[in-house]
Amino acid sequence: MNFLRRGSIHLFRLKGIDLYLHWSWFLLAIVAVVYREGSFSSIGWNMLDYAALFAIVTMHEYGHALACRQVGGTPDQIVLWPLGGVAYVNPPQRPGATLWSIAAGPLVNVALAPILLGLWYAGTLLGWATLAPDVFDFIKNVNEINLVLLLFNMLPIFPLDGGQILRSLLWFAVGRARSLQWAVWIGFVGAAGLILVAILARSAWIALISAFILMNCWTGLRHAQILARIAKLPRHVGYACPSCHSAPPVGRFWVCGLCHQPFDIFATQAICPNCSARFSTTRCLDCGVLRPVSEWLAEAPALART
Ligand SMILES: [Zn+2]
Ligand SMILES: [Zn+2]
Ligand SMILES: [Zn+2]
Repeated sequence: MNFLRRGSIHLFRLKGIDLYLHWSWFLLAIVAVVYREGSFSSIGWNMLDYAALFAIVTMHEYGHALACRQVGGTPDQIVLWPLGGVAYVNPPQRPGATLWSIAAGPLVNVALAPILLGLWYAGTLLGWATLAPDVFDFIKNVNEINLVLLLFNMLPIFPLDGGQILRSLLWFAVGRARSLQWAVWIGFVGAAGLILVAILARSAWIALISAFILMNCWTGLRHAQILARIAKLPRHVGYACPSCHSAPPVGRFWVCGLCHQPFDIFATQAICPNCSARFSTTRCLDCGVLRPVSEWLAEAPALART
């Protein structure tokens, strides 16, 4: 997804998270504001409508990012593009942490729904449809944007939020690699369904989204294969990752930062066998967290320490 960051401009930084806007949003803005045959009486309302879409997508992505930070992950940036937002979140690789980081996005839309629906209801009671038709249509549109985003995101098609929530739930039952594999295959089926919808509805937009989903499922499948290979490796007894609690694999999977020699950091007491450099921290191959070597020893189950 690096191509996204390259074509983006920095908008602002809020709570330590940078928000970027992809250039294609400006195309969308022209389509939405200028060419829109809206029910509004002036172009200003079209712009406000577009700003509301932007605000709702931003809030959704901040939901992901802040939840990710809450579980100890490192969210750093959000990029908004016409297919929605991409929050570059990296939650700790545990099913619970991942589930919360993903679910928090749609939960923002769930929280907004009663507020927006209440406003719409109030408008209906107060007769805004005739007294202030622009205000009323605006509220109606914002409601629709929120609900459509919520429903679409909750489709159980990887990498949509629904698909990733499904993956996190499967993770509890069948493990990290297989849960991703299953979610990705369901994603492929879902993408095939969406392509059919795109053809029937003659929608270039849905076709584009399907292509995006297929691309992500393909990457996900390859990632799942790597995870499956890591899961099958023999493990060191007496060490466990302080973050994900899995024992480190046996093998020369770590690379010395000084002489670039690959070695097994848990077989050599964290000393490079080639240049004798000593390392105080090590990265977990399972969850990617960097922690002091001493913490790995402390985390090992009591039985294995004897
Ligand atoms: Zn989301
Ligand atoms: Zn770990
Ligand atoms: Zn070395």
